[in-house]
Amino acid sequence: MNLVLFGPPGSGKGTQSELVCEKFHLSHLSTGEAMRAAIRAGTDLGKRVKAIVERGELVPDELVSEVVDKIVVEKRPSTDSFLFDGYPRTVSQVADLDRICEFHTLSSPAIVNLEVPSEILMLRLTGRRLCSECRRTYNVYFDPPKQTGVCDLCHGPLMKRVDDTPETVKERLEVYEQQTKPVLHEYDNRHVLSNIDGTGTTQEVFERIRAILAEQY
Ligand code: ADP
Ligand code: ZN
Repeated sequence: MNLVLFGPPGSGKGTQSELVCEKFHLSHLSTGEAMRAAIRAGTDLGKRVKAIVERGELVPDELVSEVVDKIVVEKRPSTDSFLFDGYPRTVSQVADLDRICEFHTLSSPAIVNLEVPSEILMLRLTGRRLCSECRRTYNVYFDPPKQTGVCDLCHGPLMKRVDDTPETVKERLEVYEQQTKPVLHEYDNRHVLSNIDGTGTTQEVFERIRAILAEQY
């Protein structure tokens, strides 16, 4: 099975991806994580995309699709089941993913869309904090650490993602509306789209996704 976990920034794609991958034995492929890892490592790609990501804009399609293809090539020998998280994010990336799947003989993906109202997205994103050591995420409004700024698990310092500032969050939500939402129509036309209520606890949302996937696979 191949799956696209879709939704606006802050819809919980990252968190749900990990749970879904574990339950259904999928290989997690997050383009956002790939971009941030490249930026941290200071690679050529990282240098090219740093400013774009920090402004909350989209990285050019060719660059992102090349990265996705590379990761698939790396992992394909040991898996035929991927969860795409944060990709495709434009209509043109949908066509790129079609080609990648065909070339690497992966079955065409189902798509699960997490729906969350924009007021909640704003709080989830601007309140998000991340442990710089173990990468556990918190939210100062909904899921605060016991001690401000300190990770419950490893006592590492908490930080904010560079693109979680209020201005960048606003930009990311606008980019989502304009460039990313049209992807939904594309998959809806193919009858492979399931819309899911993305509000509530992590477990509640996961249970909804699990039910949909259990029905289909
Ligand atoms: P979000 O929480 O906004 O969904 P991600 O972690 O998925 O964040 O992505 C962070 C940033 O990485 C995006 O704002 C964008 O700049 C870049 N990015 C990630 N995936 C893509 C993609 N498929 N196409 C273009 N840019 C991307
Ligand atoms: Zn930690």
